[in-house]
Order: sequence, then C-alpha cells, then structure tokens
Amino acid sequence: MTSCTLYPNNWKQMRLIKLLYKTPQEEFSIITDLNLPNQQVIKCDVERTRSDEITSEEKFLLENMLTLYCKQTSISYKQGMNEILVPFLVLCRYGMPYYIAYTCFKEFINSCLKTMFQDETFRPLQGWFIIMNLLLKYHSPKISNFLQDHDITPELYTTSWFLTMYATKVTSLNYLFILWENIILENDYIFPCFVAVSLIDKFQEGILGQEYAFIPLALNKIAINSYEELQQVLDKSQQIKSFLPISIAAKLKNYDIYNLKSIDSYTQALSKTSCLSILPREIMHLAYPEVKLCNCQKGCKMCRNSYPVIIIDCRCSRQQKQGYFPNTEFFDGNINDPKCIEQFPLKFFNIRGVYHFALLGSEDIKHDNYGQNSQNIVTKLLKSFWQKEFQYVSVVEGGYNSCHEFALDYNLEIKDHISSSCLLCCKLKKIISKKDVSKSMKKLNTEIREKCRTNSTIKVFECKKYNLKIGIVQEDMLNLIVGPDTIMITDRDSHIIDRYLIKDLNKIANSQDLSAILTFNFHTIKEKISYSFANSKKAKSCLKKVTTVFRSLKNEIIKGLI
Ligand SMILES: [Zn+2]
Ligand SMILES: [Zn+2]
Repeated sequence: MTSCTLYPNNWKQMRLIKLLYKTPQEEFSIITDLNLPNQQVIKCDVERTRSDEITSEEKFLLENMLTLYCKQTSISYKQGMNEILVPFLVLCRYGMPYYIAYTCFKEFINSCLKTMFQDETFRPLQGWFIIMNLLLKYHSPKISNFLQDHDITPELYTTSWFLTMYATKVTSLNYLFILWENIILENDYIFPCFVAVSLIDKFQEGILGQEYAFIPLALNKIAINSYEELQQVLDKSQQIKSFLPISIAAKLKNYDIYNLKSIDSYTQALSKTSCLSILPREIMHLAYPEVKLCNCQKGCKMCRNSYPVIIIDCRCSRQQKQGYFPNTEFFDGNINDPKCIEQFPLKFFNIRGVYHFALLGSEDIKHDNYGQNSQNIVTKLLKSFWQKEFQYVSVVEGGYNSCHEFALDYNLEIKDHISSSCLLCCKLKKIISKKDVSKSMKKLNTEIREKCRTNSTIKVFECKKYNLKIGIVQEDMLNLIVGPDTIMITDRDSHIIDRYLIKDLNKIANSQDLSAILTFNFHTIKEKISYSFANSKKAKSCLKKVTTVFRSLKNEIIKGLI
C-alpha cells in the first residue's frame, strides 16, 4: 500500500500515472468527429456521468475522448467506460494534458479490463460473478448464506463495481487512484473478485438482517469513504487471497478470464461447481508432510506449504476399511441420518475460522444437468458446514480415487491398505487383454489393419486424457495404441476417439515434475495433446515405443529418398 499523500496537483508523481503512461508520447488531439452510429448513447451517458461534479467543457472532452477510443479500438461504446475515464479527465484540471489523460484511460482498460468491453455480452464478467460467489462462500459463509437465501446473486450488485473498477464505490478520487494502482500492481485478473468479497465482508453488518425489500439499498450504500477504509479493504483482499490453498489459488489464477475463445468453457465448468476444490497433490502433501513429493531443490510453494487443515474422509465405512490416508479425520456417523450430518461440524466448532476443512469423498461431486449436486455425502456435509458458518471449507478434486492413484504413483503408504482386496487397485490392474486389442483393431480401416497384422510390435497403453491448461486428469480410462505408423486413442469399448500419424510428430515431452504425463505435439494439430499414465514408468515406456517407431519411419523415408 502506498502513502496517502497523493494529490492530483502532483499527478506527475503519482505511481498510477507512472504505471500507465510509461513512455513519453508526442502530443495528439483528442478532438474527433462525433459521428459514431451510437453517438446518441454516448451523449446521453456523458450527460448522466457525475453530472454535478464535472463542467460542461469537461463533458465535451469526455464525449470526444470516448468517441476517439471507440474509433481507435473499433469497440462499440459501453457503459462503464465513462466512469473509468472521468478520474483521468479530472486530473486535467491540475495541468495533465488531455492526450496523457486519454492514454492513461486506454492503458488502464488494457491492463485491468482487457477484453471486457470488446465483448458485446460482457462474458468475462460472468466468470467473475461465479468466482466471486465461490470466494464469498469460502471466506464469508454468513453473508453468503444470507444473500443466497434471499436470491441476491452477485450480478445484481457487483456488475457496476466490476465494469467501473469500483470508480463509483470510492468517494474520493485520491483513494480511487490508490485502489487502481494496487489492482494493476497485483497483476491478477481475478483480484477485483477478492476486493468484492472484502467489501461485502466489511459491510455485512449493514446488510444482514435487512428485510428483503431493503437489501438492494443496503448493498448500494456500500462505499469506501476514508483512507482507513480503503486500507482495510485492500488488506482484507490480500488476506483472503493468501488464505486460499495453493492449488485453489493456482487454478483460479490460471482461468484465462479474458480469453474470449475459451471463456465459455471455463464459465461452464465453473458454474457446475458448488465450492472451491483442492487438487489431490496438495492434499497428499498435507497428509504426508514428512515425505518429499516433488523434485524441487529448495522447496517449492507446495513443499513449504503448511496451514492448519483437517482432511475429512467422508466415504462410507466399507470404503474406509479398504484403506485411508494418515492425518485424516473420519465422518463416522450414519449418512442417512440428517441429524448426524447436522451435528457433525459441531465437533470442530472451537476451531472454526482457524482451520481449513477439506472434504474427501470417494470421487468428484456429481452434478446433474442443472449444475446441482446430487445429494451425496460430501454435498450434505458441505451444506452442513456452511450452515454452521464455517469458513475455509473445500472439497478434494477427484476424491479418494485420485488421491489413491497419486499415493500408488509415489509409493506412499496407505493405511490398512491391502492391494489384493482394494477395489480401486483391482480396477487399475485390469490390463487390456489381447481380446480388447483385437476388438480395437477390427474397428480400424482395412489398410491399417493389414499393417497391424503383419507387425507384431503393436503396444497398448492405458491412459487418461490430461488437460494441460488447467492441470486436470479426465475421468475416462482410454487406450493409447501405438501401431507401426499410427497412434490411436480408443475408449474402453474400443471406439476410436482420435488417430494421429506418427510421422507428423513434432515433439513428444515428458516433464520431470509431471513424470506420468506425456505431451504430444503434432505438426498437423495446433493444440498440444497430453495423456496421463498410471505411473512414470508406463509413461516412459510409451515414450520409448513412440520414439522408436518415429525413428524407424524416418529411416524408411530417408531410404526411400536414396
Ligand atoms: Zn516442491
Ligand atoms: Zn488400492
């Protein structure tokens, strides 16, 4: 946090301006023809913007600058832009040239709102709503419950916060500039969500207990009126961010909220989740603190990671008997007894607000078509914890199944675990039979089938698709079949999903920290494709096989040329 002695008359010294106006530019005119198809909309909005605070001359400049921006960027004018421009325009009263004010405005949108105004439907905003809601539930369950019970969703009150980057929520421009400076320096696309949660958390007393009709008014009243309030909100935003488990923070940071091509799939995936989820890797670090689980030299974030956490194994006792992880607590009540579910969190009541709670089910929470969780035990306990206003409650992604797989990969001792009687182990061991392979082969076209028959070196590897971008292994077990010139991916019923020619292979990679994962890069396909294998040995063996085939193919081509 920077000092509060920033006044607009020394705008040249303001950190925000230094961040936005980095290289001196030649002066240019911000006056332009006011002839856009929707010019009337801009005009009307300009009239309404802080009408008692800015002069008519400033309104004229405001309209010109907004019009110029739309022309230069080919973006149609949208509400929000006006509120973001005004603070910079006001600096012109203190001698800032118009073109610098305009440049700062343009740069600010570039760094904090990126593609927001490019999209006619503000899709990045949808992502923020969902993330903000998940964070609010995680950090401030009391107010989150209250708003949810009254059907007040984030779109209803945070739209203007986000689209104006809080310009209308900070009464003094001095403080607004400090907030904006902090948002830029944070360099985190979802930081505005942390600010939103922090604001709601700070002003929750004025909202809680209000009658339904008065809640919107109470939410509307939220504003930062002093430097102390701004500092509290910023400190709290940082605290909320730092309290997140590493894998949750990393996943959120990886959501490319401004990529208009991928945003729909992100928001779709996010909208199906009812709470934040921790990756198995982090849970395993926490359950086995004495074991070194990665190759880092000095200790990475994950290795140094320690915070008070209680991992609650929510599986039924039959499953728990087949193996469990050290340092976990059990839900040992009757799953079908609502009272048991309701009472369970009370066990931890005196550590509420201090400890994190990670709920471990047998697999992922299942969602129906409406994004609602089916009523499984994890969901029931999750709700119960929230009702008791427990903070920091999350679920373990992929549940025990994924952690079990991780434990086997890293030779971690699972308590009471007998491989031969463990259902999961038996499932994993089921190697594809020769019959499976021949079934797969039958579905191939005749030419390739002929080649496969004459070549006895076909190899089949079990794998799962791995999403490189978000670091998630997909559920479905697949076969990766390496033939004499083809790599074929089939599902367990031998339906061919993908087929790649080995000669098109550009690169095949097996990174050190993700040693069970192979990443293929084909000339013919833009995206890299990754698969996760049962362990690093299997991945290496597949890598070796593909490389051998690739080399022999290359030799043949060279021979052909001679
Ligand atoms: Zn490490
Ligand atoms: Zn097992």
